[in-house]
Amino acid sequence: MEIPYKTYLTENEVPDAWYNMRADMKVKPSPLLNPATLKPVTAEEAEHIFCKELVRQELDAETPWFPIPKEIRDFYRMFRPSPLIRAYFLERALGTPAKIYYKFEGNNTSGSHKLNSAIAQAYYAKQQGLKGVTTETGAGQWGTALSMACAFFGLDCRVYMVKCSYEQKPFRREVMRTYGAQVTPSPSMLTEVGKRINAEHPGTTGSLGCAISEAVEDAVTHEGYRYVLGSVLAQVLLHQSIIGLEAKAAMDKLGVKPDVIIGCAGGGSNLGGLISPFMGEKLRGENDYRFIAVEPASCPSLTRGRYAYDFCDTGKVCPLQKMYTLGCDFIPSANHAGGLRYHGMSATLSELYAQGLMEAKSVKQTDVFEAATLFARTEGTLPAPESSHAIRAAIDEALECKRTGEAKTILFGLTGTGYFDLVAYQKFNDGVMGDYIPTDEELEASFAKLPPVG
Ligand SMILES: *Cc1c(COP(=O)(O)O)cnc(C)c1O
Repeated sequence: MEIPYKTYLTENEVPDAWYNMRADMKVKPSPLLNPATLKPVTAEEAEHIFCKELVRQELDAETPWFPIPKEIRDFYRMFRPSPLIRAYFLERALGTPAKIYYKFEGNNTSGSHKLNSAIAQAYYAKQQGLKGVTTETGAGQWGTALSMACAFFGLDCRVYMVKCSYEQKPFRREVMRTYGAQVTPSPSMLTEVGKRINAEHPGTTGSLGCAISEAVEDAVTHEGYRYVLGSVLAQVLLHQSIIGLEAKAAMDKLGVKPDVIIGCAGGGSNLGGLISPFMGEKLRGENDYRFIAVEPASCPSLTRGRYAYDFCDTGKVCPLQKMYTLGCDFIPSANHAGGLRYHGMSATLSELYAQGLMEAKSVKQTDVFEAATLFARTEGTLPAPESSHAIRAAIDEALECKRTGEAKTILFGLTGTGYFDLVAYQKFNDGVMGDYIPTDEELEASFAKLPPVG
């Protein structure tokens, strides 16, 4: 092991500013549109829904660096820097000449990278003097992260949790309640949009888009509350840039340059964060890298979606965003257990993909769990199913290196741990996990309902 198994930065080497990748894009992501006027959303309009400072970050595609406030840096000390790990044992099992590194973000109670943005969003809500925030959660990591962040700053936290996940993961719910959050299964009967969705789709197990609509309605109908979102938005990618900045600093310290950078893609926040500083170099013409977004075959927004304006939520109350989307009514098959269920993709990543600066591939659920199992048995960590999409793609790259004899350096994001995903692991271990892949007809039916913009 000429390079250590784990590389940590010192506390002083942890970056003190977030990097805004949009600043270096020549063609910027398209602006968010107000669905009523079809004009770009103004700060004033957005501030009814979101925290003021977060709106400022969202609408700023020019400023490259945002200093991280001291209170947030202090909180980061509890779980950052996160380790950059050389996957020696996985490499050995694969018999590959490739060198595989991963950045592990699961080392906190939320079990994922979500805490990086949750603490920032809670901080700005507190600064603004708000009473609390509302949000949605799918698999539960974001709700947990936000509950932790709200507990730290003494904010009220209301979480709408996608119903199938609420039922499948009662322990997730208890973690959130332990941190003081109020957790409601979505669609609920507490909001108008929840009642409508329940009436239109009786017995529905919910979706992220639908939970978002409920959380937004809750925020805008209660004084002193704002809505916060754990992925998709540019502000979230900004906060998550800490992942990539740390990874790059650690690799620079080792004198290693990755050839391929891989991340799983739900709404795009961990991937956007991981690739940020590397993509910045590519955009400025300083260095070249391959970037690969990995998504589930059951929810393939980049690889099979349309690049179009669409609602960020099923209830159609949020702004319109130009992104790769499966249509805001698309609900992935209930048999899909592996997270990454969002119908759209970050506008920034969508634009990078449209410009050919990033690749995307989709992987089947059973192949993902096969990779997860190999990873757990070799590297020791039980990975989250979401993260295991990236593991799958990293293994496939490494096996390709074995075939060609190339010793590429691969970096991937290990976004979290899988302790709350054991129902999914159980299905896989029992051999009853299926691979549902939507048909072209299903997707066409969903595209037909895209809003007629541009
Ligand atoms: C939420 C989550 C993801 C997917 O979200 P992105 O915004 O695409 O990063 C991936 N992995 C884990 C562990 C998550 O909790």
